[in-house]
Amino acid sequence: MPGVKSPETKQIPVREHLFTLPELSGESPKLIGIKCNKCGEVVFPRKTICPNCCSNDVKEMLIGPQGKLYSYTVIYQPAPIGYKGPVPYSIVKVEMPEGLRITGHATVNSPAELKIGMKMELIIDKMFSDTNGNDIIGFKFKPVK
Ligand SMILES: [Zn+2]
Repeated sequence: MPGVKSPETKQIPVREHLFTLPELSGESPKLIGIKCNKCGEVVFPRKTICPNCCSNDVKEMLIGPQGKLYSYTVIYQPAPIGYKGPVPYSIVKVEMPEGLRITGHATVNSPAELKIGMKMELIIDKMFSDTNGNDIIGFKFKPVK
């Protein structure tokens, strides 16, 4: 995991059951989604009911770690409420081989570093610090060189 800190600094996922946290270094994180057993829809984040056909016959499916950049935007103003990360920041849409597009942050914040169609890899990274100094971690997409 990137940025190992002192033992007092905890790393807290921004939301539970959003992604895996590999215990072994070198293993890639994955997003936790579902696949519908009735219609085949793949959905992220995880839900108990398929949003496509309303079936509750769904099973957990791990998504990632690689996909292709479908679209992006670079934002130079802080988001109105609740956003605590750095500015500018990028929001990307990444097409995953599992058949869905995931929206998330990128590790780079310049249009010069992003190209539609480029390979992007999922990583877990610090999003911001909470009031106790803990790292709030989430998933981001990093361009594959
Ligand atoms: Zn379905």
